[in-house]
Amino acid sequence: MSNITSEDLFKNIISHAKEYGFIFQSSEIYDGLSAVYDYGQNGSELKKNIREYWWKAMVQMNENIVGIDAAIFMHPTTWKASGHVDAFNDPLVDNKDSKKRYRADVLIEDHLAKIEAKISKEVEKARTRFGDSFNEETFRTTNARVLENQKKIDEINMRFKNALEVGDLNEVRQIIIDLEIVCPVSGTRNWTDVRQFNLMFNTQLGSVSEESSTIYLRPETAQGIFVNFLNVQKTGRMKIPFGIAQTGKAFRNEIVARQFIFRMREFEQMEMQFFIKPGTEMEWYKHWKDVRLKWHRSLGFPETVHRFHDHLKLAHYANAACDIEFKFPFGFKELEGIHSRTDFDLGNHEKFSGKKLQYFDPDSGQSYVPYVIETSIGLDRMFLAILSQSYAEEKLEDGSERVVLRIPEFLAPVKCAVLPLVKKDGLPEKAREIMDRLKFDHLCQYEEKDSIGKRYRRQDAIGTPFCITVDHQTLEDQTVTIRYRDSMVQERIEVGSIEKILIDKVDMKKALRQISG
Ligand code: ATP
Repeated sequence: MSNITSEDLFKNIISHAKEYGFIFQSSEIYDGLSAVYDYGQNGSELKKNIREYWWKAMVQMNENIVGIDAAIFMHPTTWKASGHVDAFNDPLVDNKDSKKRYRADVLIEDHLAKIEAKISKEVEKARTRFGDSFNEETFRTTNARVLENQKKIDEINMRFKNALEVGDLNEVRQIIIDLEIVCPVSGTRNWTDVRQFNLMFNTQLGSVSEESSTIYLRPETAQGIFVNFLNVQKTGRMKIPFGIAQTGKAFRNEIVARQFIFRMREFEQMEMQFFIKPGTEMEWYKHWKDVRLKWHRSLGFPETVHRFHDHLKLAHYANAACDIEFKFPFGFKELEGIHSRTDFDLGNHEKFSGKKLQYFDPDSGQSYVPYVIETSIGLDRMFLAILSQSYAEEKLEDGSERVVLRIPEFLAPVKCAVLPLVKKDGLPEKAREIMDRLKFDHLCQYEEKDSIGKRYRRQDAIGTPFCITVDHQTLEDQTVTIRYRDSMVQERIEVGSIEKILIDKVDMKKALRQISG
């Protein structure tokens, strides 16, 4: 409802996800495992559909992008070469009173977000005051309070960036102290030193302890692509520029895992590495920023839910990087990263493996180590973005309420429900007949329990775009009622036209056309 707080809304979304078979806490009967989740019968369908949409948009729509499926385990030197053994750390800090652990960078970012919220409030106030004549840019560049707050943000950012660049963890702690950041639990400023913590999980390969060696669960899927660069290039006779795409599990021992499936310890990534000629990276970086935003926008959500955020502190491998942020119920947060990774990865794998990882350019007759633009998105975060944006609690005209998931039709777990009005008079048989025709193209559900109203509500709650109701008239004139999830409008249509209507509305093709045109 309109006056619900975003915190309550988020809680409702989480319980809805559980109640309707989207997401369960992992090993729940043992009280769960922190930041690990299982996808249920509807969740796994939605997740699969999102993955498929990403895959088709990358691999099927681009002749110069191919897909692979690399193993989770990799030779341990991979992670030396990639820099993860030495540099895949987060700065952590504990509050001595609450004994709670935080990421120092997140504490500072949250503080910055609060200042930013003050600016937004000021802007919105002015917008209401000035009405049509309001010019946001002029206001932002002239209003004293906005300028003062913006100056604060810039100064903190600069100080924080400098501290991270030289790895000065005492200075990071000092920033937290100077900003008077308190622990949200204890409310005190009693902080420990800031320390670095490596996020990779490790395990042993081999059964005999003397012979076993430490290997890592991959913290990103990208390295499986880099080490296969030449295999794919040669066997696929790929010419630069070309890309390699992959989806799969990644693992990070996150310090603070919260916000449901936003930050998990086991999650899934969808990554694409695009290999290019050195010197062309800024052009391709811009290209992929545009392409990826278009993909997100093709889902039909309001444009205001996405924004770009340029990285202040570049990762050890990047010379330009940004995030596509999404407006989650807990604020704008990273959904996807787009990084210009230079020749860092391939160059280092050359060094550590002693094997040449170069591309022979037939036009110039020269060999070089390609540069790379990467697009990297978390499948689970994308799932959460879609779930939270689709979720709506509505009051209906007759005073009743419903929860509906307005999931883009082509991604919905169940595409159509077939419902006999009553459980007798030959209606179930007729409904089954329709179901048996539809099931070859779409995942459909047959339901005969409870009143038709209750069944509609259940389908709304899992985001089924269409319900087909078979009633007595169906037996006479071969027509059924089709009910639309979003408008709740019901229409009488011929049985013979159901398939065409469904194909028109739920086919992924339409969305793919939109982004490739
Ligand atoms: P964050 O700053 O939120 O920790 P990151 O910058 O470390 O993320 P990347 O290394 O760029 O993330 O990973 C690419 C994508 O993988 C992210 O945009 C995000 O969607 C996803 N991702 C990263 N870590 C997690 C996680 N712990 N749980 C779920 N998804 C994740």
